[in-house]
Amino acid sequence: MARTNDFESFLIKNGFIWGPEPEIYGGLAGFYTYGPLGTLLKRNVENTIRNEFKVQDFFEIESPFIAPKEVWEGSGHLLGFVDKVVICKKCKRSFRIDKLAEEKGISVKELLKRIKENKVKCPNCNGALGSKVESFNLMIKTEVGGREAFNRPETATMTYLPFKRYYDFFRKKLPIKVFQIGRAYRNEISPRQNVLRGREFTQAEGQIFITKELEYSERFKSKLKEFKSVKGVFWPAEFQEKAQKEKLMNYQEVSKYTEKPAYVYYLFLTYKLFERLGFPQDKLRIRQHKDDERAHYAVDAWDFEVKTSLGWIECCGVHDRGDYDLKRHSKYSNENLVILDENGNNVHPQILEIAFGVDRPIYCLLDIFYKVETVNGESRAVLKLPKQLTPIKLAVFPLVKKDGIAELANKIYQTLKKAKLEVYYDEVASIGRRYRRVDEKGIPFVITIDYQTKEDQTVTLRDKDSMKQIRIKISDIEKTVNELISGALKFSQINKH
Ligand SMILES: [Zn+2]
Repeated sequence: MARTNDFESFLIKNGFIWGPEPEIYGGLAGFYTYGPLGTLLKRNVENTIRNEFKVQDFFEIESPFIAPKEVWEGSGHLLGFVDKVVICKKCKRSFRIDKLAEEKGISVKELLKRIKENKVKCPNCNGALGSKVESFNLMIKTEVGGREAFNRPETATMTYLPFKRYYDFFRKKLPIKVFQIGRAYRNEISPRQNVLRGREFTQAEGQIFITKELEYSERFKSKLKEFKSVKGVFWPAEFQEKAQKEKLMNYQEVSKYTEKPAYVYYLFLTYKLFERLGFPQDKLRIRQHKDDERAHYAVDAWDFEVKTSLGWIECCGVHDRGDYDLKRHSKYSNENLVILDENGNNVHPQILEIAFGVDRPIYCLLDIFYKVETVNGESRAVLKLPKQLTPIKLAVFPLVKKDGIAELANKIYQTLKKAKLEVYYDEVASIGRRYRRVDEKGIPFVITIDYQTKEDQTVTLRDKDSMKQIRIKISDIEKTVNELISGALKFSQINKH
């Protein structure tokens, strides 16, 4: 299933996502530029996640992108972070065996049998495929100062390495909570679907260092009550195995399928964050990994998946990593990354992880909220993003350019910019065409300066979604728009002037 070209051209035309970049050099698959509106949207998504982490007492850190080979031996990525591929004997391209089997609708075992019998050919050149299964490592290799090194394939590993520093900084008090927002790199064999599977992408990952005792503690059991009225669509592994559908559940029901109260707490915290980002309940499901699909480090894993026109897209994973990471890094670095637990024993801390992708939720939000509707017999393309995420909050239009109207509009625009409101000015073309332009950019409100403005210091304020208009005072613009964005005020409640 592919989204229409209409959507891709909407992304390009309105400055959301451009690429693959560098376009003028033919483009390299899996690399994209966020244009002006895309970048503003990305910052808003990142800041929504950042603020929620901060409210939960996480501290932000920023670590290097590149680390020597030894780190990735320790993390397990050097051996374990691979795709299994077969290589074409003729054009030398690699193909993932799981994807190839999926496309043919057969099992991997059956696929390998058919390749041996020369019944499956290279999808690229129709040549013969090699029957030997090779491991293709997904890390992007580099060399620094004569040492073999790799671009980080995730922020998580790099966040774990300074553990001893955290332990001192947080004065040995657990749980220790840190997060990092930054780029990571994966040498995907076949990058596709825009930024959904890029080779360079942004992650926002929260890490909780904790003891087993704390994970099961009364403290988290009572903290869970914060979510007593929250329900989400969860899909436990047990259900999937019995071909049973996902179900609306509260934290008590979810606790039947994963037992640590601290882990359930962070699952629900993540759920609230998806709500804050504006994902509708019916577009979101939280799916538990089955035994055979969990990553090498995971004790338990639930994915937050979003329903889009391309199907279900994984946007975030909440993982119980056990003591895997610091145990491994202790062994490979010869540093004892241990803590003193409640019983006075030296143990490696447990790690719970909230691993957000940033690019995927952005693409999904655009996919969900971009609509083409028919209004009064005319078609209107409109982006209905949640108001707090919109890249630009307000557009300023002069009704006409003459009679000092444009000058007055520009003066108001300059004042609003200084008030830290994201504003946009447009005086070109008819007012109807300008409305169409802002609708497509998802700008929720427009003020128009006209002849009456000169007489009574009022402007019209238009609401994108309802297309209704009302006159308000110039001196009220900033306050009114901010209240409309935050949800403190509804458009229908604005007093008439
Ligand atoms: Zn080939």
